Amino acid sequence: EQERYASIRDKPAETLDGKVISLSMNAGLIADLPSLESSGAEGVGLFRTELQFLIRNKMPKRAELAALYTRVIKAAKGQRVVFRTLDIGSDKVLPYMKPQDEPNPALGWRAIRVGLDKPGVMRMQLQALIRASNGKPMTIMFPFIAQFEEYRAARNLLELELKREKRLGHPVPKVEVGAMLETPSLAFAPRKFFEEVGFISIGGNDLKQFFFAADRENERVRKRYDTLNVSFLSLIERIVERCNETDTPVSFCGEDAGRPIEALCFAAMGLRTLSMRPASIGPVKSLLRRANLDQVKAVIDEARARGDQSVRPAIMGWLRGR
Ligand code: PEP
Ligand code: MG
Repeated sequence: EQERYASIRDKPAETLDGKVISLSMNAGLIADLPSLESSGAEGVGLFRTELQFLIRNKMPKRAELAALYTRVIKAAKGQRVVFRTLDIGSDKVLPYMKPQDEPNPALGWRAIRVGLDKPGVMRMQLQALIRASNGKPMTIMFPFIAQFEEYRAARNLLELELKREKRLGHPVPKVEVGAMLETPSLAFAPRKFFEEVGFISIGGNDLKQFFFAADRENERVRKRYDTLNVSFLSLIERIVERCNETDTPVSFCGEDAGRPIEALCFAAMGLRTLSMRPASIGPVKSLLRRANLDQVKAVIDEARARGDQSVRPAIMGWLRGR
């Protein structure tokens, strides 16, 4: 198995009908970066910056963060790294921040909501990112954007920091700015949002949790709802359509992107960029290279027309019968 993946490491994830899917990797620590080369990933599609905050016992300083991000950028050797700003709260609690007493933390004061209400930490992080770029183009995305205004406010904060850094005489980068789509509401944002946002990255872990109202941490309810449920796939399809209408790049970076059958169905729904843990790149690429997306799409459409709950049985049957 490992050898088969090694043999396709430098080959594209191109399907039998000629669709090329870009596979990038998720990371959160410097130690993850060597996988960029060994896995054949095209850049880091999601760098979870909160891990650096979570492994410490006190708030990191700006200079420490800047040094760290510099190392990440160096290790990526010119490949794109999508830095996600701090995503804390809910399942990710910083030991040195006052715990919030909330009845429903997943629906609570978390991620960009904290970043916008108490911008001190996020501003410090943005300054560190800008300094680490050393004037070279970089990519930043904001987590958990539920409405247009939150994206605008976050981007405005970034622009203020860019101006400030410039005034201080630091080289400033051209920044590609994106939003994570992790709440169903954002899929129905005004067209203007899709025109303004630099790119969309679907955070499927949270999106699925909120779509089905099923806690991602609660095995009992989580497993009731298949990612290949026709409703969820139709939501993904709609998001991709909306992004395509405005030429907005769209990718998927939740854990499901690393599951070959799920990745295949996402590709059939129109996704052309998937980000996953490095170990999943080989298996996902291997299946994509052996599949015809038009056929997968036809199987999905038939399952939807029949009223199947999930397309999984139909897809599994089709894979076995080929
Ligand atoms: C997601 O929600 O799918 C995601 C990629 O972010 P996280 O798992 O860190 O919440
Ligand atoms: Mg998330």
